[in-house]
Amino acid sequence: MNFIAKCFPSALFAFSLLVTSSTHSATDETIYLSADAMFDSESGKLIDNPALLIKDGLIVEVSSQSALNAPEGATIISLEGKTILPGLIDMHVHLTSMATDHGYKRLRVSHERAAINGVVNAKRTLMAGFTTVRNVGAPSFADVALRDAIAEGDIPGPHMFVSGPPIGITGGHCSDNNLLPSEYNLLGEGVADGPWAARSKVRRNIKYGADLIKTCSTGGVLSKGTKVGAPQYTIEELTAIVEEAHSHGLKVASHAHGTEGIINALKAGVDTIEHASFIDEEGIELAVKQGAYLSMDIYVTEYILGEGEAAGILEESLEKERMTGQTQRDNFKKAVDAGAKIILGTDAGVYPHGDNAKQLSRMVRFGMPSNEVLRAATSVAAQALGQSGNVGVIASDASADIIAVDGNPLEDIDLLETPSFVMKAGLVYKN
Ligand SMILES: [Zn+2]
Repeated sequence: MNFIAKCFPSALFAFSLLVTSSTHSATDETIYLSADAMFDSESGKLIDNPALLIKDGLIVEVSSQSALNAPEGATIISLEGKTILPGLIDMHVHLTSMATDHGYKRLRVSHERAAINGVVNAKRTLMAGFTTVRNVGAPSFADVALRDAIAEGDIPGPHMFVSGPPIGITGGHCSDNNLLPSEYNLLGEGVADGPWAARSKVRRNIKYGADLIKTCSTGGVLSKGTKVGAPQYTIEELTAIVEEAHSHGLKVASHAHGTEGIINALKAGVDTIEHASFIDEEGIELAVKQGAYLSMDIYVTEYILGEGEAAGILEESLEKERMTGQTQRDNFKKAVDAGAKIILGTDAGVYPHGDNAKQLSRMVRFGMPSNEVLRAATSVAAQALGQSGNVGVIASDASADIIAVDGNPLEDIDLLETPSFVMKAGLVYKN
């Protein structure tokens, strides 16, 4: 209860509905769950023969099978031969987007259709073992509606932290409305130029239910006519956005590919840098010094260059990706080696939802130890959300978000792509 109250102060009532109206299983029962091993997302180590007690959607005790017996009347879940982990966290998704709708194909998607996409994709994401997501950019407030419908138990999906419409400059990546000629006068909902206009957009997003603020401090790969290396927003504008968000207790995620825009965003005090493709030594140093998190989507390039054209991605975007993908992977390794805080952020929605875990093996391949990759997708992501102890960990008082794989995920990270068990808030969705 504590967890949801902290995430969404107004959703306390919604959470009690979830407990009483869910059709998956009753959560007022006590569950005794045991497995062969458990990934401890704090230490990054495996622990043998764990046993847990779960009640009211929360983990109430974590111990070993020899020290903890099942209480009388408890529901027993015995995951023999399996390793349990905290439910995974993807810090960069767009649940309202479909990977098949890119470029001009996206123009046919109404906000209402986007919301329905979200219902489909929320379930896919949960069944893939992602029990928490940060949704960084959605049309209108479809993401707020989706988050609330999930929290109220109407539809299955992960815990969601949402940004509402991203805030950006006229013609910029966060506007992403550059496809039609000027007579259509199409403007992104979050378009604002100047510090006060940008502050006003932050206030509007908070008013309608955002949990965080998403902005763009450089151009992007998939937006027509923007340059990945070009800064967007001045430091003055970015500082206004960050000050306004922080004063309301919200964190700020900034899309930033280019070297200068990354540094601008860090100097302005953003909490997470998205993509970080052309981050240089100064940027890495600044991120380390300020404790900012890097969310580098090093899997998505494979989808964009492999299947993007058929999905409608413009040739100019494919060309931008060709210039960006490898550099981003090289810089990922530099950031890891420098001790920067790395979180799992995949940009799901650009590629199909449910494939989120494919990035884990790429993070290992491009230079991060497997236990650190799993921490980036659990406890470190939870820190970046401001939800340490609530999600991303198997510990007392955390939400009972637990997945299981058939084997040792530290030796074979690909196992995470096919979890055999998914529990969220004490409810079993896959077994
Ligand atoms: Zn994105």
